[in-house]
Amino acid sequence: MPFSSLGLSAPLLRAVAVKNYAAPTPIQQQAIPAVLRGNDVWASAETGSGKTAAFVLPILERLSRETPRHPRRIRALVLVPTRELAAQILQSVRTYGGHLPAPLKSVAVFGGVSINPQMLALRGGADLVVATPGRLLDLVRRNALHLSSVETLVLDEADRLFSLGFADELARVLALLPARRQNLLFSATFPPAVEALAASLLREPVRLQAEAALSRSAAPAPGIVQRAIEVDQPRRTQLLRHLIKEHAWTRVLVFVATKYSAGHVAEKLRKAGLRAEPFHGELSQGARTANLAAFQAQQLQVLVATDVAARGLDIAQLPAVVNYDLPRSPVDYLHRIGRTGRAGETGVAVNFISAETDAHFRLIEKRHGLQLDREQIAGFEPIELAVPAAPATGGIKGKRPSKKDKLRAAGLLPAVASAPGQASVSRPPEPRLPDTTGAGPKTKRAPGVARPTDAPLFPFTAARRAGPFRLRPGRLPH
Ligand code: AMP
Repeated sequence: MPFSSLGLSAPLLRAVAVKNYAAPTPIQQQAIPAVLRGNDVWASAETGSGKTAAFVLPILERLSRETPRHPRRIRALVLVPTRELAAQILQSVRTYGGHLPAPLKSVAVFGGVSINPQMLALRGGADLVVATPGRLLDLVRRNALHLSSVETLVLDEADRLFSLGFADELARVLALLPARRQNLLFSATFPPAVEALAASLLREPVRLQAEAALSRSAAPAPGIVQRAIEVDQPRRTQLLRHLIKEHAWTRVLVFVATKYSAGHVAEKLRKAGLRAEPFHGELSQGARTANLAAFQAQQLQVLVATDVAARGLDIAQLPAVVNYDLPRSPVDYLHRIGRTGRAGETGVAVNFISAETDAHFRLIEKRHGLQLDREQIAGFEPIELAVPAAPATGGIKGKRPSKKDKLRAAGLLPAVASAPGQASVSRPPEPRLPDTTGAGPKTKRAPGVARPTDAPLFPFTAARRAGPFRLRPGRLPH
């Protein structure tokens, strides 16, 4: 199906031709006509599948066709959860609208930067505003814009905007909008928890999703190869450096759990000679923008980020994403790995799995109907002990087995307690050095720890790697 069959006018068709888009993506094929008809749309499609153009193109078409009732009042409002996403969508709006005979005015507003230039930009109104909710409300409070003429509302990364962190601000924005308006919800994921909220916002929406029902999280983009590599936590940075070298990754987006880790890991990588910078919510907006821009321009090789980079960011030709720390939720997992393998490209998503995080990763896998073979990389085999599940004790306070009790019960620690002053060891004092003997991987045990006969030393590695990972796709659970 060509773009020309979707009802878009020549200037917009010219814009997609200039972008070299050969044909509309499936979400664009479905969403563009529906938005042009004025329908509410509830769209869920995999990461990197062209969702931005799926709503921006038809909105621009409608804005350019129809004479505004109130000149320069805000007619279309796109809400997004992050500042960088607001800037990115504004860029798309300007690119796609660049050939319109009467240019439309579009403005992006988001926090972390001075509000004054945004107030100036909004003088005289705007046809389309892309905003993060907090800054938008600030601007409303200062009388810099009015939302009473909004005809179309887009919630991009809608499930994130429905989440607790944004719920209050979103409710306040919605209260300022006219009741009669078109609502468009886009995301790769709509977990069950937000489904009722989404439904309450929409009027007879056109539901767009290729296969799974909307209450399920979408599948990862097909071009993403997922890997699970076992490694002890203290050795992750070394393994990361090894992988970057081994696979000659020109760029890699590394996700960590905390702002501190982002800075710390980036620093360690820099000390090892890599061009690496952090990206997290505590950096100044100037540093955030500069680091992301440098990464996109291929001046940086590694961006070490918190989940603030997980949503929506479109980084062209990003070969690899690494979950150095696992994400907290299966939804975040999908968004994180979706930074690679976009727009039909291929990419690899690597998960570092340690004894501590294996159970958590299994939950993520279960939620997405995945089962990745565990890999070990020669020289980085894990040596930490996994804690086997203990028999239920009835949960009586004070009677629960300690971690050491569980290890002893499984025969992983000597039965007799260590002598005073002599620490019992659950982790070897020194990390294992890379195996340079060529004799293949060996397992090193903690001193004094006997390998049990009935429990594998690393229960989570029972299925040993034998070559590349195998992905077992399955239907997503309800
Ligand atoms: P999005 O999901 O909107 O972030 O888009 C992901 C990437 O797909 C962006 O780099 C777009 O430029 C690109 N893209 C969007 N639509 C098309 C299309 N029809 N054909 C090829 N690439 C596209």
